[in-house]
Amino acid sequence: MIKWSVSTEVFSLILLFVLILNFHERRWGSHPQRRLYQLCLYLSAGTMVVNILCTCFLSLPQVIPVWVNLLFNSAYFLMVVAVCSIVAFYLCRLLYEHIYRQDGLRRYRRLLAALYLAYALLIAVNLFTGVVFRFDAQHHYQRGPLINSGYLVMVIQLAVLLGITVRNWQSVDSSMRRVMRILPPIILALTIYQIIFPDVLLNGGIIVAADIILMVNFQSRRIEQDILTSSGNRNSLRQELLLRLGGKQNFQVLAVSLQQYRMVNQRYGTRRGDALLCALSAWLEQLHPKGKSFRMGNVEFALLVPYEGPGEADRLARAVQARLRQPWQLDGAGILPCAVLAEFLYTGQGGSADDILELLNFSLAQARCGKEHFLRFEPAIYEKIALHSRTVELLQQAVQKKRFEVWYQPIRHCPTGRFSAAEALVRMRDEAGGLVPPAQFIPIAESDGFIEEITNAVLEQVCRLLADPAADGLRSVSVNLSAQQLLTEDMVRRLDELQRTYGFAPQRLCLEVTERVLSENPDAMRSTMELLMRRGYSFALDDFGAGQSNLSLILENSFSRVKLDHSLIQDYPESERAVFIVHTMLEMFQGMRCPLIVEGVERPEQARALTGHGVEWIQGFYYARPMPRAELMRLLAGDAAKPRPAP
Ligand code: C2E
Ligand code: CA
Ligand code: CA
Repeated sequence: MIKWSVSTEVFSLILLFVLILNFHERRWGSHPQRRLYQLCLYLSAGTMVVNILCTCFLSLPQVIPVWVNLLFNSAYFLMVVAVCSIVAFYLCRLLYEHIYRQDGLRRYRRLLAALYLAYALLIAVNLFTGVVFRFDAQHHYQRGPLINSGYLVMVIQLAVLLGITVRNWQSVDSSMRRVMRILPPIILALTIYQIIFPDVLLNGGIIVAADIILMVNFQSRRIEQDILTSSGNRNSLRQELLLRLGGKQNFQVLAVSLQQYRMVNQRYGTRRGDALLCALSAWLEQLHPKGKSFRMGNVEFALLVPYEGPGEADRLARAVQARLRQPWQLDGAGILPCAVLAEFLYTGQGGSADDILELLNFSLAQARCGKEHFLRFEPAIYEKIALHSRTVELLQQAVQKKRFEVWYQPIRHCPTGRFSAAEALVRMRDEAGGLVPPAQFIPIAESDGFIEEITNAVLEQVCRLLADPAADGLRSVSVNLSAQQLLTEDMVRRLDELQRTYGFAPQRLCLEVTERVLSENPDAMRSTMELLMRRGYSFALDDFGAGQSNLSLILENSFSRVKLDHSLIQDYPESERAVFIVHTMLEMFQGMRCPLIVEGVERPEQARALTGHGVEWIQGFYYARPMPRAELMRLLAGDAAKPRPAP
């Protein structure tokens, strides 16, 4: 009679018990995987209990009837292979986690089912033939010739899994690669040991080893999880992108960024703020059966789905866009956060995971500036990014090597026919000495933190010009300010310093701000503006008519002049509509006694019609283009002295 030692089996059961407790304490993995792992743990425990019972029963051949032993042992044989099959299926699902085409997974499931069915049939046949195990006349357990068939099933399952791993290596994540490196050799070694020394029961040990390795793998995955929303974090998005790119799979990414979320937290409380983040992440995830959502930043999310053609991609993008325009009902409050959306489509065009993440950030920033708050993916975005990087590089060099120049566009005072004012316009040179247009580098300088240096350079040169007696003919020179510069009182200190150095009359320095700048943080800006106005500096409202044309801005902020945007006079005086708008505005500002500068005058007809209507100041290519300081000085000294004949 074979003598078995159940001690390893009991020890394995205790270990398993600890694993089960741990499992219930934590939330590991996504739901289907979690359920599968749970099933695996319980079935493992059941198998070990049955094995221990079998061993106990076998030691009491006189007490336990042979048919009970036969049934219990058959059940054990079936259960142990069932556990192996579940572990194998579980691993296969993880291998296919980053692969959109799931036919391989389906094929493997069919293989597992076929193997199990064949094995179950063998166990059923064994009841009559004893090919696997049998009981002799003394009711003692005897091994049959096919006693190791269960191990054979397991070896086939593992071998096919290894094949899948190798074939899809690029799309298998690092923790799974680790599992596939560790698990098969350990299981194989234990199995060989078990076959050589069958009296030591090791099957429970093999099972628990597999369960522990899977759990450790789970644990390492938790590092990739966002604590608040349980979705993937930025790192796991990067991993996911790497694996999809490695496997040459086409995909669509929709990135969502919530704006001014501090206000949502302040107004509705952080608990609701957090709940909204969870709701958004969960909503994104359920949008597509193969979709995965990630929290890329504090208030930035990404949804990654397979690319299934332009129609499907468009449908999904529109669904997200539509949902973001609806309020979210949370704890009785309807919250409508301001969200921007950006899309990226990967259809084999190349680029790394980091490039895609950078592109998503760039697209979100662009989406913020657009009216739609949604940036659809288009290949031209690569050129925009390249231009952006090149401009940042140029800005860095220009700051270091002081390559900013100030050009001046003279502004004509119509009643006297003289250039009595000018606008300072910054110019940046590239390495070859070519001029980079401000429209290209100013927005980037504002977003990437260079604007302070640029404004300082411009102010320095303008103040020096104002101190030059040759520029006495200029009643004022204006400088453009960006939003950031009026938020703090740094500008006041800087101007005080310049004023002390150059000693010009503050009234001669005019600071231009646009409506957009003012609307960003009106209170902070107003207080800085008031401080500067008290020192005598004047302010002009720039680009009036290009935005919302808010008249109350002029009244509330006591601008000393308003600049009419060039877009208003493009079709003037040919178009009746333009004539109506421009003349209405002229009359209105004359009525308000607010001097007006009309910008962008390029043609003699425009100049003639405007002067005929009593416009006081004109700035435009028709009279003068922006020019370097030396040229301005020549103009002021010579040409400007002889007023241009009225058009
Ligand atoms: P802006 O403040 O509206 O400046 C006037 C722009 O209109 C200048 O373009 C000028 O060259 C252009 N312009 C003047 N007359 C005409 C005309 O008759 N026809 C046409 N088509 N254009 C005319 P520029 O120099 O390219 O500057 C573009 C923008 O860059 C400026 O618009 C301003 O918003 C920004 N900018 C320029 N210099 C600075 C600066 O020192 N600081 C800041 N923050 N922004 C600046
Ligand atoms: Ca301006
Ligand atoms: Ca302007």
